[in-house]
Amino acid sequence: MRNISKSKFLSGVQCEKKLFFDTHRRELKPPVSPEQQASFDMGHAVGLLAQDYFPGGMDATPDEDRNYLIPIANTRRWINEGVQTIYEATFSANGVFAALDILHHQEEERWAIEVKSSTSVKDYHITDASLQFYAMDQAGFRPDRFFLMHINNAYVKNGPIDPAGYFVLEELTDKVVNNQAWVAKKVNELRNMLEGEEPQVGIGPHCGSPFSCDYKGHCWGHIPENSVFDLYNSRGKEWQYYNNGIVDLRDIPDIDALGHRQRLQVEGRIQGQRYIDEEKIQEFSQNFQYPLYFFDFETIFTGLPVLDGTRPYQQVPFQYSLHILSEDGTLEHKEFLATAQNFNTTNAQDPRQQLIQQLHTDIGPTGSIVAYNASFEISVLNGLAAAFPADAEYLLGLTHRFVDLLVPFQSAWYYLPEMGASASIKSVLPAIAPEFSYDDLVIGNGGDASSIFHSMITGDFVGDEAETRRHLLAYCERDTLGMVVIWKEVFGDLV
Ligand code: SF4
Repeated sequence: MRNISKSKFLSGVQCEKKLFFDTHRRELKPPVSPEQQASFDMGHAVGLLAQDYFPGGMDATPDEDRNYLIPIANTRRWINEGVQTIYEATFSANGVFAALDILHHQEEERWAIEVKSSTSVKDYHITDASLQFYAMDQAGFRPDRFFLMHINNAYVKNGPIDPAGYFVLEELTDKVVNNQAWVAKKVNELRNMLEGEEPQVGIGPHCGSPFSCDYKGHCWGHIPENSVFDLYNSRGKEWQYYNNGIVDLRDIPDIDALGHRQRLQVEGRIQGQRYIDEEKIQEFSQNFQYPLYFFDFETIFTGLPVLDGTRPYQQVPFQYSLHILSEDGTLEHKEFLATAQNFNTTNAQDPRQQLIQQLHTDIGPTGSIVAYNASFEISVLNGLAAAFPADAEYLLGLTHRFVDLLVPFQSAWYYLPEMGASASIKSVLPAIAPEFSYDDLVIGNGGDASSIFHSMITGDFVGDEAETRRHLLAYCERDTLGMVVIWKEVFGDLV
């Protein structure tokens, strides 16, 4: 019989089929994306930092062959020898296996500490911790107390990160103890399941909770484009339709009961009908004042803050693109991309200050600043204003000049069937200008841009940095040029 590790246990609790695939059909798993890799890397870095909270421990991390017999033997030996702290303490007994981030002994108590890069305790952390507690108990090393150690989102970096301020310890002992009978039963069920045929599990809300499942590409293959799962703001209704055999949007029977945006989407699917509320568009067009500054930030938002004065997961800008459209039709492009090394070089000018200096030059005193989902750009500018009081007046002044190009699409004043359920620029732009796409770009989304730039800061980047910087610039430029294309199509004749 196979051992159940904590990651397998989490998979099996989410969906037995997922665990079966993890074990028997790993070829179905898609490759790791740059964004996922960045998240793994950050989790690892946070785990290492957590060791400084309990310094001087013995490290039971397995070797590259991942032979766990040695860490299991070392853990047992070190505990018996009275070692106070063990990193990656590893336990296996009665069909379960778990590697604990930190095992610590204090005042005659055995503490189990699991480190997470989140800023709060989630339900699935308790599931995870319950399995670890069970594995330790089965191995004869039941902890007295179980803690989750997560990031303190109020921590502000000032020099090297101080683990004592950066982490919060939350005790989960009562919760995990209460779960032990359930864990024992579930472990048996999952181990038995793995010995049999692939379980017959249909798709359901569990495919997205608590994690978006890696096997959706396989299990959801029968769901066509423009299905009930694409219905705008569906709020669970999609499963009612699906469970009643309705999959295509065109087959939704009660169109009159749908909201305005949903009805446009279904009618668009049936009749290919576009919808433009001329009056609202005309009214909205009055917000635009030339010259128009089409503006987009790219940011990093990492759990391990990279600049002094910033918090975990704060959006820190490293790049912007700006297209300036004058009343005479002239279009000009400006851009900023920070030097990654300036993020971690002591005495280098803060890259955000360089960005602000260039903003002063690039954005003149009058004219609308147009962004797609402007609340994001405004919040980043507010963050900059708080960090650099000398520039606050200028930066806050910019925030009052924004016009959000998302509004006409989110409000469904302008709808084309090709937009489907989404009002995001990635859906609106190809609907309005099919010839204009992101397909030729090497970096094609903000998440990847952010992860790649972050890897340059941390030194984990592999590849041609100069060429990748060109790809980053090309991606951000495409976003603001896309806004210009959308704006001309919708408002070009009105302003
Ligand atoms: S996609 Fe859904 S049904 Fe398929 S393995 Fe994942 S959770 Fe299970």
